[in-house]
Amino acid sequence: MRQFEFSMLPWNVVFGAGVLASLPQRLDQMRLQRALVLSTPEQQGDAKRVQALLGQRAVGCFCDARMHVPVEVASAAAAEAARLEADCSVSVGGGSTTGLGKALALNSSLPLIAIPTTYAGSEMTTIWGMTEDGRKRTGRDPAVLPRLTLYDAELTLSLPPAIAGPSGMNALAQATINAQDPRTNPIVMTLAREAIAAIASGLPRVMRTPEDIEAREQLLYGAALAGASLGAGVTSLHHRLCHTLGGSFNTPHAETHTILLPYTVAYASDAVPELMAAIAAALGSTSAAGGIYDLAASLGLPTSLKAIGIKTTDLARIVDLAMEAEVSNPRPVTRDGVLALLQQAVAGQRPD
Ligand code: NAD
Repeated sequence: MRQFEFSMLPWNVVFGAGVLASLPQRLDQMRLQRALVLSTPEQQGDAKRVQALLGQRAVGCFCDARMHVPVEVASAAAAEAARLEADCSVSVGGGSTTGLGKALALNSSLPLIAIPTTYAGSEMTTIWGMTEDGRKRTGRDPAVLPRLTLYDAELTLSLPPAIAGPSGMNALAQATINAQDPRTNPIVMTLAREAIAAIASGLPRVMRTPEDIEAREQLLYGAALAGASLGAGVTSLHHRLCHTLGGSFNTPHAETHTILLPYTVAYASDAVPELMAAIAAALGSTSAAGGIYDLAASLGLPTSLKAIGIKTTDLARIVDLAMEAEVSNPRPVTRDGVLALLQQAVAGQRPD
């Protein structure tokens, strides 16, 4: 076996339908007494329910989390936390809400308790992001890793298939990118392959029968592992292209991952055939890129960049932006190669 290095992140996860009920006792054990509950405006009801569950332990709610953590939202949340003398935040929601909790952890040193309700997986990573003047800054910092994560699939039952589908594919992207990259190590690859198998089997079931709690649990488990593989692993060309499209063309986050994944995987295919064969096997397919495309298509999800408003005339600018800084990838990144990848993705042709 080749040499490798692996550092475990200090994850602290409780998994299981109904575990939300144990939150008050868990806060007591951590000696946290003044929680600020965070959510988006759409999930204010969830936030209020958690506030009621916490009783005296909650000092208030901040229900204005937004996609990509605008700095003015992060500042308003920090001011509210200071005003209420909060000693921790409890995020109830998807990656946008977890992201706000991470901003509070980074800028105000508030420990974060995460209660994820999508499959974004952010709660398993040390990656933070904030947006200012239309540009998203990201970084890795151990301070933003939640002190505790409660994975309670009951909270995902309300996530409609239209959001659950792309969100599950976003999780698949995190796992696949790590399963195909020789820079990761056997432990991260094991996490990533287990994630791929759980998502490939759980996501179609959730889309067919959204009220199936066992399917929801399986998909949430896959998303947790996918987030862990990203947390302990790497990003590559795939994430660079998604951030370029999201940051400069305002494309929807999870849908952008869904559409680009088969093409970024196909781009790397010839460079790492053995890793691709393992991914295909985890997907239950004969081809990694083709299997991912077929999964998205079978779920009725968008499969072309055209479907989210990207035109062939945008591609040269996307390539310029994506290649402004060096990007590490299993297959070296070239201008012509990325342009060809994007041309296929605009058309939505199934990659081989
Ligand atoms: P989101 O958090 O923006 O949620 C989308 C919508 O779904 C919101 O209106 C939300 O309130 C609603 N919602 C969430 N859960 C629900 C539920 N159970 N029932 C009903 N409605 C629900 O979307 P997302 O895809 O989870 O997160 C995207 C953001 O997360 C992006 O900003 C992305 O960059 C970030 N992200 C970060 C990391 C990381 O490691 N830092 C990883 C993945 C994603």
